[in-house]
Amino acid sequence: MEHPHSGEIECRIGTLKQGDHVCMVYENRAEQVAAAIPFILRGLEENECCLYVADDLTVAEVLEALSKRGVDVKREKDKGALRLFTKRDSYLRKGRFDPEEMIETLSTNTEEAVQSGFRGLRITGEMTWALGGEIGCDRVIEYEALLNRYFPGSNSLAICQYNRERFSPSIIRDVLRTHPIAILGNHVCHNLYYEPPEFLLSGGNDEERVSWMIAQLKRNEEAFVERRRAEERLAELDRKKDEYLAILAHELRNPLAPIRNIAAILRSGSLGHSQIEWCRQVIDRQVEHMSRLLEDLLDLSRLSQRKLYLKKERTDLKQVVRQAVETSRSVIDENLHRLEVSMPQEPVPVEVDSARINQVIINLLDNAAKYTDRGGTICVEVRTESDSALISVGDSGIGIDPVHLPNLFEIFSQVESVMQRSRGGLGIGLAIVRGIVEMHGGTVEALSDGPGLGSKFTIRLPLLAYERFETISENENDENPLSGFRILIADDNRDGADSLALMMESMGGSVRTAYDGDEAIEGIIGFRPHVAFLDIGMPKKNGYDVARLVRERHDGKEVVLVAQTGWGQVEDKRQAVDAGFDHHLVKPLELQAVLDVFARIRTSAKKQ
Ligand code: ADP
Repeated sequence: MEHPHSGEIECRIGTLKQGDHVCMVYENRAEQVAAAIPFILRGLEENECCLYVADDLTVAEVLEALSKRGVDVKREKDKGALRLFTKRDSYLRKGRFDPEEMIETLSTNTEEAVQSGFRGLRITGEMTWALGGEIGCDRVIEYEALLNRYFPGSNSLAICQYNRERFSPSIIRDVLRTHPIAILGNHVCHNLYYEPPEFLLSGGNDEERVSWMIAQLKRNEEAFVERRRAEERLAELDRKKDEYLAILAHELRNPLAPIRNIAAILRSGSLGHSQIEWCRQVIDRQVEHMSRLLEDLLDLSRLSQRKLYLKKERTDLKQVVRQAVETSRSVIDENLHRLEVSMPQEPVPVEVDSARINQVIINLLDNAAKYTDRGGTICVEVRTESDSALISVGDSGIGIDPVHLPNLFEIFSQVESVMQRSRGGLGIGLAIVRGIVEMHGGTVEALSDGPGLGSKFTIRLPLLAYERFETISENENDENPLSGFRILIADDNRDGADSLALMMESMGGSVRTAYDGDEAIEGIIGFRPHVAFLDIGMPKKNGYDVARLVRERHDGKEVVLVAQTGWGQVEDKRQAVDAGFDHHLVKPLELQAVLDVFARIRTSAKKQ
């Protein structure tokens, strides 16, 4: 079933929700149908039980209007979703009208609707029955006032239809005082003249009434101010969009001029091989530039529609940064900038879409090259900080006024106005940078001490913990019990270290040695051993210090640390545990004790 929505009134009717008590003061049948029929259609769409009390508009007319709008009336009636009543079936069931009884009936019908699987009850109907002479009809305003205690918070909503021609002005006045929302022609109004039920039922005192009226006026004014602010925001966006279109046209026209010139050159004929090659290169470059602009535009639209998808993989961030630096090198060299790159020795594991992060870094590097006068310096740094991997791109360029920093990553935000712009660009690069970084669960920030003082952009991405024992358990076999293990042995007694290394290598381990505390730390960071055997008494740093420093690092939590000491005192063991060791062995190491350590590691790796 399809209900085409058209017209303003239909839209506004669609915003009504359960709990609303609405009056419709209509002047003619067209107005009545224009609001009442969409109200019911919306209810059917929302899976509410819809009830219509017909009178002036007959049941047949309502059904016809609904089926014209595509409703399968019979099916909806059979389902119990559409129920049509006359005044005799509803308000005047007992030949008289009783407000309390009617509210009770509404409440029961709502409960029954919910129990039958509907979202609630939606009612509309003509109130012309109240014009009749039946007993209780004079209590209609009292009923309307009481409904304001019933509807809020209930699973039902209603539009009470009043024909302005047929009801007296005093009734219409009170109708407007008893409905928080009023439908008048095409308008769905928040009713300023609405009064809480107490005022109508018991009169209220003037003091309370004045307070209420003032509150209503203030609420109205606040809504008005809020709307005006929204309009101003929209106008500002519209202005920026126009400015942006001007930039876009300008940027897209730029590459066209050289291409057109080449066409003219080619037309002149009699070109040598080198000239044709030159022409080819110009076209290539300009087409490449243009496709990049278009690709950026498409990315921006994908990001704003949440249609940009990431292909994440585990990778070493250093590799991604290296690639980006290679790509941007030509722009950096062209501008005679000096490039400084600093990265940690060890890998920086992240789970990212490499192509997208590559794009982000290239964007920052290209900006750094673009916004720095010839012969400047660009610094790229990769480092880790607790659970984050950080990439920063700094330059000694034109810098950014701090007032522009907060909006730098917004779309349509460019520091220079259109007229001043001299360095090209669409002004959407940083919006894309932020979009992609945030999709990776990261952040990006810009820092600058001000114009002329350079800028620095820093991206923060979640760092992956090193995978523990990634290769060990697969390679187990009896002949090479240590196969798959990376092992570090640190001992200032070189013979001791080398012989232990030889022994472990003969059992399949991949072993490195270190002969003092500093070398031990370097080895653990660079070689990423699964297990490190550390002597305690070593030059530069003793074994306890090495263990402590390693454990403080985010990437030093997983390595299994084995202390080797000359003494097996309880105090030694306690100190070893405090420093972060997992095991404590007494020198000279016994083969079986060493094998036991590896067997335990293998078992715990399998359990993970
Ligand atoms: P574009 O470079 O195409 O204008 P971006 O979104 O990449 O668009 O950058 C937005 C604005 O931020 C730029 O117009 C420029 O004013 C400012 N900006 C970006 N990077 C730098 C930088 N490294 N140094 C100074 N200003 C920058």
